[in-house]
Amino acid sequence: MQGTNEVLRVEPMMQHIVPIVLGPPGAGKGTQCKRLSEALQVPHISTGDLLREHIRKGTSLGAKVKRTIERGNLVPDSLIWEMLQERIGRSDCRQGFVLDGFPRTASQAERFDAYLAQHKSARHSLLPLVVRLAVDNSVLLRRLTGRRVCPKCASVFHIEFGAPQVPGHCDHDGAELFIRDDDREATIRERLRVYEREISPILQHYGNDGRILEIAGDRPVEQVTEEILEAMGHVAV
Ligand SMILES: [Zn+2]
Repeated sequence: MQGTNEVLRVEPMMQHIVPIVLGPPGAGKGTQCKRLSEALQVPHISTGDLLREHIRKGTSLGAKVKRTIERGNLVPDSLIWEMLQERIGRSDCRQGFVLDGFPRTASQAERFDAYLAQHKSARHSLLPLVVRLAVDNSVLLRRLTGRRVCPKCASVFHIEFGAPQVPGHCDHDGAELFIRDDDREATIRERLRVYEREISPILQHYGNDGRILEIAGDRPVEQVTEEILEAMGHVAV
């Protein structure tokens, strides 16, 4: 048979939103990233996890990262980007992904924009959207300073949310619980300041294009996820 009936198909332009989740320590960023990744059925890409994975597997990148850290230096943008680019270039990221811990600087955001522009086609594109989890510092302090850790089994308790049966002692082995240095008020206040300083260039970068979604993070986990998903559906792409 000659000449099959060619059906002219017009494929719709596929635009996938890439949530960039930002949140201060204690805001539940990791949890929301995981939940979004499950709901959207796209990978959750955490730069912290990627770094640890490369180090653990002993890749050449991991070795470079390890040397940098051992010298007491910060992992440079170029290394982070090299690692991230390799990851988001894999096929499972084609329909999007959830970004956790990236970008951290305006220069990282620019590299990411350039990458997305370069990989855009007439039929397919990925669009970044900052999801900013906003939680009052007083709430974060309450959440974080209440943590108590068991020195024996590493179980984590909270004096308000998830208190041990016997105050100050582990439910599993009775060991006396302690406060990690990271959970002390002065340390937390400093971490919150660092966070504010870190995100301000990112917010500036994406704010001009209106690509920031502010979500009140001081509510039940499920409700926060739902609101993010709903808002994502209403963002003009
Ligand atoms: Zn214990």
